[in-house]
This record gives sequence, structure tokens and C-alpha cells, in this order.
Amino acid sequence: MLHESENTVYIAGAGNGCWSDGPTHSATPQWTEHRQKLLSCFPPYESTTLDSFPDEVQYALHRIKMLKHPKTNCPVHYGSASPMVDYSTVTDATIPQHGAPLTNVIEDMTDLLKGLPNTAHPLHQSNVVPNSNKAAIIAGLVANYTSHNAIQGADAWNLMKAEMETAAMMAKLIPGWSEKQASGVFTSGGTGCYLYGIKYALASLYKDGKQRSLGVRGQPKIICSQQGHYAKTLSTDWLGIGMDNCIEVKAKRGTNEMDLSDLIEKLQMCKREGNPVAAIVCTMGTTDAFAIDDAKAIREYLEANPDINNPDKYNQPMIYCDAVIGWSFLMFAGYDFDRNPLEFSNIVKNKLRASFQKMEGVKYADAVGIDFHKTGWVQYATSMFMMRDFKHYRSVMSRPGSAYLLYNTPYNPGVYTLEGSRSTAPALAAWSTLKYLGKTGFQTLIGGMVEMSQFFRYLISKDDQMVCCNNKDNGFVTLFRIYPSSTVIINEATQKPMNAKQIYAKELTVGDNSSEKWKTLFHEHNQFQADVSDRMWAWLHSDMGPSDGWTPPYAAMSRGFRPTESDDSDGKKSGYMIFALKSYPMNVNITTVQMTKLYNHFKQCAMVAEEEILTPLPKTICEPYKY
Ligand SMILES: *Cc1c(COP(=O)(O)O)cnc(C)c1O
Repeated sequence: MLHESENTVYIAGAGNGCWSDGPTHSATPQWTEHRQKLLSCFPPYESTTLDSFPDEVQYALHRIKMLKHPKTNCPVHYGSASPMVDYSTVTDATIPQHGAPLTNVIEDMTDLLKGLPNTAHPLHQSNVVPNSNKAAIIAGLVANYTSHNAIQGADAWNLMKAEMETAAMMAKLIPGWSEKQASGVFTSGGTGCYLYGIKYALASLYKDGKQRSLGVRGQPKIICSQQGHYAKTLSTDWLGIGMDNCIEVKAKRGTNEMDLSDLIEKLQMCKREGNPVAAIVCTMGTTDAFAIDDAKAIREYLEANPDINNPDKYNQPMIYCDAVIGWSFLMFAGYDFDRNPLEFSNIVKNKLRASFQKMEGVKYADAVGIDFHKTGWVQYATSMFMMRDFKHYRSVMSRPGSAYLLYNTPYNPGVYTLEGSRSTAPALAAWSTLKYLGKTGFQTLIGGMVEMSQFFRYLISKDDQMVCCNNKDNGFVTLFRIYPSSTVIINEATQKPMNAKQIYAKELTVGDNSSEKWKTLFHEHNQFQADVSDRMWAWLHSDMGPSDGWTPPYAAMSRGFRPTESDDSDGKKSGYMIFALKSYPMNVNITTVQMTKLYNHFKQCAMVAEEEILTPLPKTICEPYKY
């Protein structure tokens, strides 16, 4: 007999042998009761006024809100700070026999936010870490709610449009690319894009077309800038090319772009040795110095000099543009820089124009990587790998289909993506963000960052104790050094004390042949940047600043901004690598008042660090987990 209750259907007496022959003691076996309870663990499939899910989401949002602080004296973290994160009890974790109520789980999960840095905070300036916009967060929820696999159209249906339309919108941003010819797929991070770029180049390299089946043959090389991201070593390592086959080109002093004459030398070397070059990687906006490599000059050089190209059995090298940071400067396409309708300051307007014009070089690429979770204000991980000629990409990268894939819709990226199962959330989040913020939104966000960094650089320029290390680049990151005020260095020629700018100019020339005095000073000053950074870290995690009402910022430092000009080690194991403190003004809450606070805080940290040199802080570098 079929018996229907409010939410469940079961067959009375089923345990007596209707479909199951196991022993059963009652007409409503235990599992059916447990199953009944589990109904409330999932959003209902049908429309009903009894749906509690919106309230449950609301509760989670409420819990997040409770971890925030009022605007005056608002610390950089959710909840309160703790000196050290405590991972000591993690191995105690066990799966409970019976599940907990949702409210408890929400409380436990939001408790994990305690002490977490808040990326929306104006003094959160540690790295290229934006806060996520509302449309993107909601898109993540929507995509996770429906939970579909972006492997094929048969599953993700119209959600696939989010990927295809994002690819079209991005292709239109690249001058000379055709949205009809180009396409893109979402993947895991800028590192995933890099991996795709090198894989695509390898798959296209061998004229016999057998790379996919026979693997890597010969010694294919990847050429990229010394300033490029470490994804270069990851990609050559994971693809079996070997990290030593990644050839680094020197960066030009000053701009940090790839030095074309050194690139040509490296190409000639490969030619002489008979090794093919699979890809030349142009970094279009490096993480620290925002160096933009000259993709146009490189493409033009390759075309004008066919003799430099690969031996006969190989195709020509591909150009991959790692534009994960720089891509959003393309949003200035069509911006009337002369009229400057958003009224950016003159200096910023010129910087934006310069960056935009250099970024246009991505049009010379065969493929481009884009991170929405960097300069796109979308949560992790939202990255798109784009190829200029999608048909070509598909022809060299498609795998024979898997038996369980359906081909009854026209879009089935699962046959040429890295991933099998792929979330629709990144595509939906990026797509929603582009619609929500629009070009003017992006222009304002990017221009605003550059305005803030310009203001910060102005403060530094007025300060004899500080020097900006990347004045020549047009990005939004400021790298700078601060010097101990107590050590007075006398210029031997003028017999006057040197200010920070003069000290730095001298430090840039330090190398093996320098005087012992300057070699020592160079290393001491590097160490001082680390001491200032350690002081900043200690205050950040102590929940109190140098005095009442002081909010300690979250900023960081680089131990490898660039080598000095006299350092000839190509950046590898350099003895003269310049350390620099950093500021990344990524969010819209940042104002000149906040930048001034950041500046004052660095000064304070330097002052205290000088006193602390005699009584060093405890080390903040920890033993790795489970070693
Ligand atoms: C961040 C970054 C990457 C790596 O991207 P992820 O999204 O962190 O994987 C690659 N290249 C550059 C220039 C980057 O700044």
C-alpha cells in the first residue's frame, strides 16, 4: 500500500519483503526516520513557504557581522587578534556519530573567522588581495546552490553562458582579438593559467603532432623574465619539462621589464644548442614592481628574424602573456585620457595611460591568463585562461571523449580542460562582476588604487628617512625602504649626512667589488626592513598598537624586490637582493587619511625596531606543520 506523508513516501511493510529481504522489526524502519530528519539538511526541491534556508543564510551573515568592529578603532581582523594561530589540536578532530544542528555548525564555521584579516579593511594592504564584491559573493552562493558541473552543457545548461560570455567580453577588451575566434576557460588560479599556457605551447610545438602521446622530447625551453612569477618553475616542474629548462631573462634596471637584448641572446643560445623554445612568457604586470614586458617588440622581433626560430621539426614558439595582475588596465579601452572624465590627477592619468598602452601588448599573445581574484574584486579562485585562436586550441588539446560525457549540447569543455569536475561558481562570479561594476566601476577602482599609491609615494618623497624603490613603475604597489635614524652616514665627497634617497642610490651599486663598509651597510639595511616588518607583525597580532586608539595595519615586505645593479647572478641566489616594505591599496575604503595612518605606523615601527635591535623580537617564522 502506498502511504504518503507530508514530506516523504514509503511503502508500508516494505521490510516484510516487498523489495528488501533483510530482517526488519517495524513498518517504519529506523533509516526512514533518520532520512526524514535529513530532509531539513537540504534546501527543498519544491517551492514552499516552509523553506528555512534564507533564514539560515541570514544567520551566517549575522554571525559575520557580529565579528566586525565599529568604525572607530576598528582592528584589521574579524573578532580579536591572537599572537599566534593555534593548530596544535587539529589532530583531535573526529567525525561525530550524529550530525549537529545547523546553527551549531554555522557557529563553529564562523568561529574560524576569529582573528582572520579582513580584506575590506583600509589598513589591509598585504598583497594583491582584494575584497570580493556583492555580485560575486552571491554568484558563488547561487552556483553552489544549484551545484552543477561545468564539464558539459548537458549539466550546466545556461550557466555555461557565463563562461562563454565572459570569454567574449574579455576578448573584446583585447585590441585586435576577435570574440568570434578567441575563447577562454575558467581554471584554478593564475598558476593554473600558466600551466595551461605552457601545456598549450608544448602541445603545439612538435610538427609531428605527437607531443600528447609521446610526451616531451628534446629539451624544450621556456623563456621568461627573471621578475616573472614562480608559476614558471611550477609549470616546468609539473609538466615534466624540468625547472632547469626555464630560462630567465634579465630585467631592465629601473623598469624591471624583460631586457630584449638579453632575450635575443637567450634565443640565440637555444638555437646554437639545437633546443626548441616552446614558449616565451611575457609578464604583463609583475606582482611587486608592476613591470609590463614588451610583448609587441618580442612578437615583431620573432617575425622579422625567422632565422632565430626553432629547428625545422618544431613549430615556432608561442607567446603566453601572464596578465593575471595587469589585465584590468585594459578596462581603460575607450577612456578619453585627454578629457579625463573621471578627473584623475594629472600624474595618475598619465600613469594609467602608460600602463594601458603597454597592456595593449597582450594582443600579440597566443594565450593570456587573467585573475579575477586579483584586480577583478572577485573571491578565490576565479581565473580565466584565454586563447586567441580557439579552434586551434581545441584541435591540439582535445582528448577523446569520456564514455559518460554527453554531446547533446554544443559546448562541452570537459574534453579540453585540465579539470574533470569544474565548478560553475567562478564563471558566474566573474560574469556577474563585469555586469555589476561595468567599465567605469573598474576604471574607478584601478584609478583609485593608483591615486592612493601616488599619495603614499608623495609622503615618502617628503621623508628623509624613507625612499620609494619603484618610482618608475606605473602600478599601484609601493615598495619602499626605511632607514634607522640613529645611524648617520656621511657622504665622503660632500662631508654631509646622506638622506634615504642618497643611501639607496649608493646601495643600488653595491656588489662584490664594493667597499666592506657598503657591503655591510647593505645587509644591515636589508635586515632593518625585516625588523620593521617583524615589529609590524607583532603589533598586528597583539590587538593593541603603540598607543591607545591606534590600529595596527597588515602590510608586508619582499625579500626579493630586485638585485642591485652590480649583482651579476641573474637574480638567482643573489647576494645583493634588495628587501623592501610594501603597500597594496586594494579596496575602496582606503583614503588619504588611511594612507597617512599606514605611513605613521611604518615610522613608529621603525622607531621601535631601532630600540629593539638590542632585544630582538621572538622569531615569527615557525616550524612547518607535521615535521
Ligand atoms: C599571482 C600571480 C600568479 C599566480 O596566480 P595565482 O592566482 O596566485 O595562482 C602568476 N603570475 C603573476 C604575475 C602573479 O602576480
